[in-house]
Amino acid sequence: MPQPCECRGVQPGPTAGRSIADYGEFTPAPHRERVRSVGAELGGVRVLHVNSTASGGGVAELLRSLVPLSNEAGCPTDWRVMEAEPAFFDVTKALHNGLQGKDVTLDPEMRETYLRWTDRNAAALTEAYDVVVLHDPQSLAMIDPLADRYPETTFVWRCHIDPTDAAPGLLEFLGEYVGRVDRVVVSRPEYADAFGVDATTIHPSIDPLSSKNRELTADESAAAATDLGDVDLDAPLVAQVSRFDPWKDPVGVVEAYRRVRDDHPEARLVLAGGMPDDDPEGEAVFERVADAADGDPGVALLTDLSDEAVNLLQRRADVVVQKSLREGFALTVSEALWKRTPVVGAAVGGIPLQIEDGTNGYLVAPEDVPATADRIGRLLAGPAHAEALGERGRATVRERFLLPRHLLDWLELVADLR
Ligand code: UDP
Repeated sequence: MPQPCECRGVQPGPTAGRSIADYGEFTPAPHRERVRSVGAELGGVRVLHVNSTASGGGVAELLRSLVPLSNEAGCPTDWRVMEAEPAFFDVTKALHNGLQGKDVTLDPEMRETYLRWTDRNAAALTEAYDVVVLHDPQSLAMIDPLADRYPETTFVWRCHIDPTDAAPGLLEFLGEYVGRVDRVVVSRPEYADAFGVDATTIHPSIDPLSSKNRELTADESAAAATDLGDVDLDAPLVAQVSRFDPWKDPVGVVEAYRRVRDDHPEARLVLAGGMPDDDPEGEAVFERVADAADGDPGVALLTDLSDEAVNLLQRRADVVVQKSLREGFALTVSEALWKRTPVVGAAVGGIPLQIEDGTNGYLVAPEDVPATADRIGRLLAGPAHAEALGERGRATVRERFLLPRHLLDWLELVADLR
């Protein structure tokens, strides 16, 4: 039996306090004009985003920046975070894993737990909105009670996951809810094929002014370095910044690092990962990685870093790795490239959208530990080459993966929905 838990419904998520004008240098003039005109056209359309964690993971990272700017652009936007007992997050992590290709089936009790909490969170929403955006499978089934209660509302499902290899039973279960929304939004067009629906593709973005991504002052860097503990920031540094999740393959990163060290004995590895509220697997995966690292003084496992510390790590690393086995987009790739740090990434999901092999980083087959080690080694051995790749990475992100473009995409979507 699930533990009793007080349902406090959905709570507002945190948002950043910057203004559109602050992004001037990252926004071409025609683009600024378009944000103004689409915002004015919207005439105050009210939007609500619902997700399942206020921090940690890419969705919270995106909403933190997108929500305040949407408000300023003329689209009154709220963000609510679901609340539920741990059993709900066990089920939704199973949904997440099943969508990413793990052989998962939902038994009747799991379905009941999922629907009980999506119903309770829907019941806790008492305001009417013109557009409600449900993020990922966690909130998807809220469509049923909400569509009954608010027949005038337009519902969007924003799928951040790559479901191209999803377990068929799960596709069938979730497909029923997907079929009820008015619009599906994905990071790559192929992601919608799994559900057999049309979708709008919107690439995620990073916020160049957030404490995660902006330049740090000397004092901020010094404080952030303290957060990184004993890590020698002057050693050849390899880092992966990711939730401790099997799909991010942190154990594979440790294996690759061990090979790198044959040629670069002085190299160090940092695996930095948060433990978001909606990811119950974090601790077990952390333990597995700690076992794999086996007390190796060259490997640091860090959790709950401040945004400034993640920023410093991505900046000071000589190579950032994103060795995912499945990946919806991977904001961490753009975050590193923006800081001119070349990335060795797996050729899965959203990573090839960001990395062009040999141009701004390297792509490797997701399971290929020797190739991962080889590309890391090449970058450590050739700092001038690494610098050239990093410089091109910065240009890629500036052109395609910054917040002002993302804001405009969302405003245009909302305009199209009304
Ligand atoms: N992140 C963080 N601290 C950590 C690990 C991750 O702040 O210890 C952030 C990371 O910087 C990025 C987000 O969490 O902004 C992860 O997003 P991504 O799209 O890469 O992966 P997801 O977690 O959504 O699968």
